[in-house]
Amino acid sequence: MYSANTDRYQEMIYNRLGASGLKISAVSLGLWHNFGSVDSLENQKKIIHQAFDLGITYYDLANNYGPVPGSAEENFGHVLSRDMKAYRDEMIISSKAGYHMWEGPYGDWGSRKSIIASANQSLQRMGLEYFDIFYSHRPDPKTAIEETALALDQLVREGKALYIGVSNYDGKQTSAISKIFHELKTPFVVNQSRYNMFNRKIEGDLLPVLKDNNKAAVVFSPLAQGLLTNRYLNGIPDDSRAAKSSSPFLKKEQVEKTLNTVKELECVAEKREQTLAEMAIAWNLRQKEVSSVIVGASRSEQLQNSVNALKNLTFSVEELKIIDKILDD
Ligand code: NDP
Repeated sequence: MYSANTDRYQEMIYNRLGASGLKISAVSLGLWHNFGSVDSLENQKKIIHQAFDLGITYYDLANNYGPVPGSAEENFGHVLSRDMKAYRDEMIISSKAGYHMWEGPYGDWGSRKSIIASANQSLQRMGLEYFDIFYSHRPDPKTAIEETALALDQLVREGKALYIGVSNYDGKQTSAISKIFHELKTPFVVNQSRYNMFNRKIEGDLLPVLKDNNKAAVVFSPLAQGLLTNRYLNGIPDDSRAAKSSSPFLKKEQVEKTLNTVKELECVAEKREQTLAEMAIAWNLRQKEVSSVIVGASRSEQLQNSVNALKNLTFSVEELKIIDKILDD
């Protein structure tokens, strides 16, 4: 029987999501990979328990996480109901709708029909009464933004979501939907987007909009799916994401293409007495609008390492310049 570490709140940092009352852990756990029906349930349990013991309060899911789609929600729900029910009020649990989930015209995108049906399915799979944050997973170019906003607002009014987020919306789209949420008084608090040393798009586009609107960013793939770690320094391990056939999202060519840059970044991290993963996470958190970085993990030791990033979050101007130069070359 799991019993949580009594010191779990000692080391973690909790950041407020914009102007809202909600605080979340600066490092959070994402269940996109390694939590599907193809993965060991024992290992999943170990990682989730480790996360909670480290003070991680935010658990990021979506309808389609697996594989198979839906299985990450089922597995998380299983661990929650078996071992962690007593801690539900210490957790921020999210899900999302928008990417392909089921056949036919209603299984994806942002219509009222899709969003409401998908949220209900996700609640059922996870055995939850409500989500702490529910996201529109991507903007739908063919559905009026008002319709998506109203569907998300309805989830709040029905008690199925406490807060609302959008994911993969750029600055302009975030600004537009933010206005609607403001009129509706919907508790819209967060944008979830990709941000790491290899993908800095949000710096010039989204972050200024979030600052102006007093909203927060939680950012995904801070380690560029493992590239910004020591994982591939000596080749591609058989058990890594780049080698797995169940995960077509990280290609061997990407590993080869980035290796020299990664080695240079590793030297900077070493001088800071950090691992590269720790430095990459700290680098993301230097942005004021970034309230949390959502990391993935295939084993509990990785998560411990990722949380160690919080021990050194400060960068000198010189270090930032060196990192920029390495990334520009
Ligand atoms: P990361 O960039 O954190 O990559 C995670 C992978 O990096 C792990 O699976 C592991 O690879 C490796 N790794 C993690 N920690 C370490 C470490 N300390 N040392 C060495 N290697 C390490 O994030 P993800 O791409 O997994 O994304 C995180 C989460 O973000 C997702 O689970 C999801 O919740 C969210 N997300 C949201 C999206 C959206 O559209 N809203 C899209 C993508 C992600 P290995 O498996 O090889 O061991």
